[in-house]
Amino acid sequence: MPEIKIGVVGCGGRMGRMLVSEAKAAGGFRVVAGSEAPGSALLGKDVGELAGVGALGVAAVADAAAVFKAAEVVLDFTVPTASVAHARLAAETGRALVLGTTGLDAAQGAAVREAAKRVPIMWAANFSLGVNLLLSLVEQAARALGDEYDIEILEMHHRHKVDAPSGTALVLGEAAARGRGVDLGSLSERVRDGHPGARKRGNIGFAVLRGGDVAGEHSVIFAAPGERLELGHRAGTRAIFARGAISAARWVAGKPAGLYDMKDVLGLRD
Ligand code: NAD
Repeated sequence: MPEIKIGVVGCGGRMGRMLVSEAKAAGGFRVVAGSEAPGSALLGKDVGELAGVGALGVAAVADAAAVFKAAEVVLDFTVPTASVAHARLAAETGRALVLGTTGLDAAQGAAVREAAKRVPIMWAANFSLGVNLLLSLVEQAARALGDEYDIEILEMHHRHKVDAPSGTALVLGEAAARGRGVDLGSLSERVRDGHPGARKRGNIGFAVLRGGDVAGEHSVIFAAPGERLELGHRAGTRAIFARGAISAARWVAGKPAGLYDMKDVLGLRD
């Protein structure tokens, strides 16, 4: 089988570096291009050296368009504004995109969906097998338990994370809402401070912890008088996300235009 040519935008980031090293470990891929933010001190550095896997002869560039032109599939774990520009570039160049950036607002999400009308985009807030199974379990539990069970979602991440609640916490909230047949938008309770009053029946609450180097922990709690059910996931290493994204890159290469997620890759689609 010929190697799949991949490009990594944000190749100097924590996830970007790991994507390069996991692609090398997986085999069947060739990293042909990488970009970093304009002005970054990492521009010109070898993407393989940044990832700690030895020189690949590919320098990090500021021109994202060049990455899309060179690669068949581009992986993007950067920041929301950059990801919107990357989704447009994918649509213009006809390249597949694996998108893991979180914290996109509604308009930015709409821009990604628009691009997915023209090219295949694999978009997931979490690329791990465990979390994608958890999403199905949470939906099932929420369907079985009525709104007598208060749903609270607790997440903890490392001190560098910039968005909150995590993208994974939000998709867990959406899974719970789907199970209940309600819309998360009007029921989510994201901040409690001062004197917010008693908990409103049916709301879905979020709580956020930040600290240290925690790769990602999520718990979904269903609490009723007399009992509590907790479903959770702990990521021990960010490598699980990078490995999932690399499998996603293999899966999405050559697929028709459309928006896909990890359920498609893992065969969990109902
Ligand atoms: P990071 O800050 O270490 O890396 C982001 C990189 O993107 C930086 O190197 C930055 O310079 C670069 N960047 C910014 N603008 C750019 C541009 N215009 N062009 C090219 N590069 C640009 O962050 P991180 O911890 O690697 O996380 C990145 C994103 O991935 C976050 O949104 C995070 O929440 C998300 N994430 C998703 C998953 C998942 O499974 N979906 C897992 C982990 C992290």
